[in-house]
Amino acid sequence: MDYLPFTRPSIDEETIAGVADVLRSGWITSGPCVRQLEQELSQYFGGREVRAMSSATGALEIALSVAGVQPGDEVITTPLSWVATANVVLRAGAKPVFVDVDADTRNIDLERIEGAITGRTRALLPVDMAGLPVDRDRLYEVARRRGLRVIEDAAQSMGATWGGRRIGSFGDLVAISFHANKNITSGEGGCLVLTDAAETDLCTRLRLQGVVRLPDGNQEVEVAGGKHNLTDIAARIGLGQMKYLETFTERRRLLARRYFERFDTDSGCVLPVADFANCNWHMFQVLLPLARMRIDRGGFIQAMHQRGIGVGVHYPAMHLFGLYRKLGYNPGDFPQAERIGGTTVTLPLFPGMADADVDRVCAAVTEIIRDNKQ
Ligand SMILES: *Cc1c(COP(=O)(O)O)cnc(C)c1O
Repeated sequence: MDYLPFTRPSIDEETIAGVADVLRSGWITSGPCVRQLEQELSQYFGGREVRAMSSATGALEIALSVAGVQPGDEVITTPLSWVATANVVLRAGAKPVFVDVDADTRNIDLERIEGAITGRTRALLPVDMAGLPVDRDRLYEVARRRGLRVIEDAAQSMGATWGGRRIGSFGDLVAISFHANKNITSGEGGCLVLTDAAETDLCTRLRLQGVVRLPDGNQEVEVAGGKHNLTDIAARIGLGQMKYLETFTERRRLLARRYFERFDTDSGCVLPVADFANCNWHMFQVLLPLARMRIDRGGFIQAMHQRGIGVGVHYPAMHLFGLYRKLGYNPGDFPQAERIGGTTVTLPLFPGMADADVDRVCAAVTEIIRDNKQ
């Protein structure tokens, strides 16, 4: 039987031909395709400013700079995310202050945010795990009341909505990823969505060495920008993907629905929140009943692999990594993130999957759990 990976990009022939055209054009780095992608993204995000980046990590680093996060500042975030979320805070010289996640949504627990705010808190950095949006009404209510910037790590949120509005079309600074595994991709890539003109200008400079080109042909540099620009090769892939965003999201929703229909509810697995309004179903993550199993998560993943099915782990709780332990975080600090991070597995979910693939995954999970009951 064919190997079923946990995700796989869907790239059409028109896009592949388009990339070949870029390669033949004589201009392969940032150029017309990047400008067109930024235009299409801006349109998608309701006319807001958009700057394409070589990654969402770069977009987050720039967002922290734009928001004025400085050494010694604190940024409140979730311990349950891809480690980029907290790494960028450290790289800005600031401290990531973790707040435990909600047991159901697996997103930062908004009830606990205020308790973590100190005089040094500069920004909130929430993550929409698996494309299930953090409650934007409550998030921005707290941010406004406490005078904090919000940097949305919406890396996984392309195509997600909140109350009918597209994530990215409102709010403060929003970082989106076009990494190969995300809902639409440019291979590697991402973007930052902004509103303020001066901040957009700063973002543009921080993206590429701080260089400003003057009308007389001269250049000026006033900030030490980095190297975060997207290539036209990548942007052309992104343009080819934009056309499919709605189709992809719809297909993901249908596949997720099928998981809920077919999943063996007696297996003891905990399924994600069944949100078919806002979530873009970036991933389908279940928590394994490991306490009642004779094998650990590694054993489960291996057993799935033997059945030709790929499984991911998104993510181990970050505060347990050595780097974060050195900041003073310890096991037991964030029980929900640790429980979820210790038992979560990501099952295959991508637009190119067949309905029958979902059935095959569900059958394999049921079988492995049944055969390895304690
Ligand atoms: C993918 C991801 C990132 C990083 O995106 P890149 O484009 O790979 O830099 C950051 N945060 C979260 C939550 C992600 O899923």
